[in-house]
Amino acid sequence: MTYQRVLLKLSGEVFGGGKVGVDPDVVNSIAREIADVVRTGVQVAIVVGGGNFFRGAELQQRGMDRSRADYIGMLGTVMNCLALQDFLEKQGVETRVQSAITMGQVAEPYIPRRAIRHLEKGRVVIFGAGAGMPYFSTDTVAAQRALEVGAEVILMGKQGVDGVYDADPKTNPDAQKFDTLSYDEFLARGLKVADATAVSLARDNDMDMVMFNLSEEGNIARVVQGEKIGTTVSR
Ligand code: UDP
Repeated sequence: MTYQRVLLKLSGEVFGGGKVGVDPDVVNSIAREIADVVRTGVQVAIVVGGGNFFRGAELQQRGMDRSRADYIGMLGTVMNCLALQDFLEKQGVETRVQSAITMGQVAEPYIPRRAIRHLEKGRVVIFGAGAGMPYFSTDTVAAQRALEVGAEVILMGKQGVDGVYDADPKTNPDAQKFDTLSYDEFLARGLKVADATAVSLARDNDMDMVMFNLSEEGNIARVVQGEKIGTTVSR
């Protein structure tokens, strides 16, 4: 089964290839994979994270006001949006960035109905600046945007981890991977792969989430085609 309209969440870490900033080679290869999927007729909306630049909670720990730090975090996501837009358009895929914080020179404002229209025309829409609100995460925004634009599923691409485990697989060699997991179990276990607010929003609206490894080439196409990779979190 291939999805018709998906919301792809790309964590910021991926854009930096594990470092601070944007690695153009990495973004280019993600753009190529997304372009392949778009060419098959699937409508793709994207929410990008900003963890490769700044995370509000981390800046707060170092003495910064949380709200201001979160705004810095949101601005970081927009840089990722522009990099991805550039490489998608080099692939010949028309792309629009919509930002939750108005910045007319580089992005449209977030207008949900317009976003849906872009998708219907086969354009990729990239949502930047999170929700435009401190204390939120781009995971939560991914769930909200997926619901508002009528996506069938949230596909959460992670850097170097191929799904949800019962413990951190980077530090615990005995960690077991889940193929499927209910929203309630995800929340009860306090798992950190996705934000709890995002998972509870998905649960309350019965929106499936698939968490998969973005670092493995071809995975975006696989997950869009409904291949069972990663971990599906659902009812
Ligand atoms: N952020 C925010 N409100 C939002 C989305 C993001 O304040 O609606 C800030 C927050 O500080 C967060 C940072 O932007 O730490 C980067 O986003 P996130 O950590 O979700 O990115 P990811 O982990 O996916 O790379």
